Amino acid sequence: HVVPLTLDASPHPLARHALVLVNDVSQWHRLERMRSDFVANVSHELKTPITAIRGFVETLLEGDVDPEAEQEFLRVILDEAVRMEALVADLLTLSKLEAEDARVQLEPVPLAEVVQSALVRVQGEAARRGLAVRAEGVEGITVWADEGQLLQVLLNLLTNAIHYTPAGGEVRVYAERLVDRVKVHVVDTGIGIAPEHLPRIFERFYRVDKDRSRLTGGTGLGLAIVKHIVSLHGGEVGVASEPGKGSDFWFTLAALDPA
Ligand code: ADP
Repeated sequence: HVVPLTLDASPHPLARHALVLVNDVSQWHRLERMRSDFVANVSHELKTPITAIRGFVETLLEGDVDPEAEQEFLRVILDEAVRMEALVADLLTLSKLEAEDARVQLEPVPLAEVVQSALVRVQGEAARRGLAVRAEGVEGITVWADEGQLLQVLLNLLTNAIHYTPAGGEVRVYAERLVDRVKVHVVDTGIGIAPEHLPRIFERFYRVDKDRSRLTGGTGLGLAIVKHIVSLHGGEVGVASEPGKGSDFWFTLAALDPA
């Protein structure tokens, strides 16, 4: 909001207060709209799996389904339930992060150890998808972080990198030492992101391709969680990407022992 410079010279002393109040109210409206958009999005995201589950269960209850189809229906029901579970888990994570007392407990954390834990957890899925995952340059760096939250950030970026990279590709985590910080990159050789989508990619439920995100079990909240956690740590997030070539998602954290 631009406050007109002439305001100081306003003949009426209340004019300035009135303007500030207008500002507050429009800020309130903006927040209120964001909140109701969010509720609408969540409802929509939950409605899709619920409708599918209901439909398949009704069909099964009617009987007269051959055993092979029955197995298939049950598998779809399970997939949809898993999707809802993931969505609810991500929503809970976000709401905990947003709680007013969400203060992170920053402790010195060896970066290599957390990266290693993250790699161990994604290795199985990466291998199933024919992808190599490795880390480099993370040894000997200690960051100020909440270890559990740092692990979550790495897992979210790594699972995205794995989901959006075709078989035969590579996912790499590396750290770049800056003076008092470290910049951690998760780089993939995947499908990349077109420039017009980049500014919105960290928004809740923003997806370039809804169907693809659905296929990989994405909730559309992964990057919003990443951004939230990193900002609670006082760091920054960003991405450089080229369609067809791959993406480089990065975040910064304060580091111990300045380089
Ligand atoms: P999702 O659960 O859909 O993956 P995210 O918040 O994690 O949600 O990511 C938002 C969107 O950003 C994704 O739907 C996808 O379109 C895009 N995206 C995220 N990471 C990558 C990546 N490594 N490569 C290509 N696109 C990505």
